[in-house]
Parts: sequence; structure tokens; C-alpha cells
Amino acid sequence: MERPETLLTPGPVPVSPKVLAAQGAPLLYHRGPAFGEVMRTVADGIAYMLKTESQVLIHTSSGTGGLESAVANAFSPGDQVLVVSIGNFGERFKKITTAYGLDVQLLEYEWGLDARHEDVAAMLKDLPDCKGVFVTHSETSTGVVNDLEAIAGAVKDHPALFVVDTVSGVGAVPIEMDAWGIDIAITGSQKAIAGPPGVAFVAVSERAWEAHATSTLPRFYFDWTIAREAAERANPESPWTPAISTLMACKVAIDEIRDEGIDRAVARHALLGKATRAGLLAMGMEPFAANPERSNVVTCVRAPEGVDTSKIVSHVRKRFGLVIAGGQGKLKGKVFRVGHLGWVDRFDIIRAIAAVETAFVDLDLPVKVGVGVEATMEVFREADREFGEEVPA
Ligand SMILES: *Cc1c(COP(=O)(O)O)cnc(C)c1O
Repeated sequence: MERPETLLTPGPVPVSPKVLAAQGAPLLYHRGPAFGEVMRTVADGIAYMLKTESQVLIHTSSGTGGLESAVANAFSPGDQVLVVSIGNFGERFKKITTAYGLDVQLLEYEWGLDARHEDVAAMLKDLPDCKGVFVTHSETSTGVVNDLEAIAGAVKDHPALFVVDTVSGVGAVPIEMDAWGIDIAITGSQKAIAGPPGVAFVAVSERAWEAHATSTLPRFYFDWTIAREAAERANPESPWTPAISTLMACKVAIDEIRDEGIDRAVARHALLGKATRAGLLAMGMEPFAANPERSNVVTCVRAPEGVDTSKIVSHVRKRFGLVIAGGQGKLKGKVFRVGHLGWVDRFDIIRAIAAVETAFVDLDLPVKVGVGVEATMEVFREADREFGEEVPA
């Protein structure tokens, strides 16, 4: 029996049947009222999720286009910026800011660690002219989630813009753009928002608009002034032909999150993360993150000594059609990652843990069959006792 693969990857993610159906609906004209309503609902929905009054711009690109948009629109050549990197996506901020000719100061951590707000504060003390601080919220390559609220506190009294990559964060971990003083927040359609890939969202604070007004870096496709002018027409538009079907699907995904409630969506991801961790740790894996309790997005674990994790990943996929992820870059073969974001519930997690257990058996790796599933199910039973019918997953 051929079943579609289930994506327990940290993006793209499973999306609901309604979202899939919306993607297959007849196309809307992108300069007409019905699509204007889609643009408005999507932008408002992202602002709701980010807890912000800031304007949300929509770009047709993956999340990386949103990161590039932030750099190109709010800075000028030679501006000094601080990039805080805890993994692959911090590296990406470093590459983009470097490519645009900024004076890049780095605060880098060993992968697996999260950034310390004390370090950010100390760096900024020595960088009075710094124009921007770039931080990854949820570092998808390592499963580490930064304590963004604490870091926000360290950036607050410095004039630098606070730029946050929350591509895999928003919807799965708490974020309060306005309360925490975030100036630019970037996200994408294919992570916890649970839409198909292809759209990036950039929320821009008043301070960031002011910086944009004097910023001189070259830009065209992602130009905020052009995007804002189109978004503020009576029928909100994109300046260019947008990914119409993807946006129609995102509207449905966002409606679903509004129905669930953003805080409840975050609680669901937290519970799924806790259950995944419990199962994998009971099987003898080690969490890769130094502080895994915030890892609502993806669980990254080291396998026991001598186990090549790419074998586990490919076996789980071949035998069960369940896609989990290996390690990226220098973590290849050393870790594996189970994503639990998007349209995912407790039985997806129980399946994943059972599949990993079975892969251990098939590959003659040491495992006590059932311990992982039992530990995972105990977390859900505990949540049932705690929340009753209000249990989030
Ligand atoms: C997925 C992701 C991105 C964007 O990647 P794209 O492939 O360009 O969508 C950026 N940052 C983080 C933390 C991500 O998880």
C-alpha cells in the first residue's frame, strides 16, 4: 500500500486537508477584491501570531528571502551590526549581512548552546554605534530555542534595531514582538504556520521604517516602500505576481490557527516536544540542546556512540514512509531530528517514536522495545490528567 510520506521534518511540515484543498482551488486574480481579502487576512493573521501592531509585508520567496529583505531595507553599506549565531541559521544571517557589505561583529556559540543575554549586553556595551542585532529565535539545525525575551532585555536600551529570525519559531514558541521590542521579525509559510512553502513575512516596526527611510543598500524585488504602497491600496496587493495558490492555502492555515488560538498552538507544540524528548531519551538518546526544555519545534538528539544516524533516518523513511531529518553540516551522521511542528498531533509523535524503536531493532542497535513509546504516552497521559478536555494535543 502506497501512502504519502509523513513529514516529521522541521519544514516543510504536514498541512491540513483544508489547506491542501485551498491550494488546488481555482486561481484568484491578484489585483481583485477576493485576493485583496486573502492578503489582508494573511497579514493580519501573522500580526496576530507575532502579537504586534506592526505592518506585515508579504514576499514571494522562502524564509531566506525575508532575511535578505530585512538586511537590504533597513541598513546602509558599512553599517556595524552584531550577528548572534548558535547554528546554521545564525550562519545564514552572517552570510547575508556580509554579502551586503555590512561591518559584521560576531557572537558565536558552539552548536547546541543558546545565546546568553549577558554576553549580548556585554558586546553591545562595546559597540555604541551598532545599527542592528540579528538573532535566531528557534535554531532549526540544532533544536535550540533562544530565550528571546531575555535577549530582548539586553538589546532594549541600545539604539540598534533588533532583528529576529522567527521563521520556525512563531506559532510553536512564545513571541511577543511589541512587548519585547522587536523591530523586524521574519517568518515563513512552511514551518509552524503550517502552510505550503513559498511565502515569507516581514513585520516592520515604526523604528525599522525610520531606518528604512535613510537606508541606502541596493534592493528592488524586496523593496519595502514598493511593497507597502501595494499593500495599502483599498484592495491590498503584492507589487509583483504573488504565489497566489500558496497564499490562498496560507489564509486557511492561519484561519485554523486563529480558531485554535495562538497560545494554545504554542502549548500544543510544547506538549509534542516534551513527549518526543521523553520517548527518545528513554531509548538512550542524548538531547543535543544544552537546554532542551524550550525545544517545541524540533527535537535534535545524539545517538549512542558508534551509531550512524543517517542509517536510522533512511530506514525510518524506507520502511514506514516517515520522514525525519539527519544532521546538517558538521552534525551529519551524528544527530537526528524529529520535527513536531505544523499540522501534527500526538499520534504522529507516537508513530515516530515507534518507528525509531523498530529501526533500532531492524538495524541490530541496542534498544529495549517499548520504552520509548511508553515514555511518550506517559507524557500525554499526564497532560490528559492536567488539562482534561482542554489538552492541547
Ligand atoms: C526554515 C528556516 C529559514 C528559512 O529557510 P528557507 O529554506 O529559506 O525557507 C530561516 N531560518 C530558520 C530558523 C528556519 O528554520
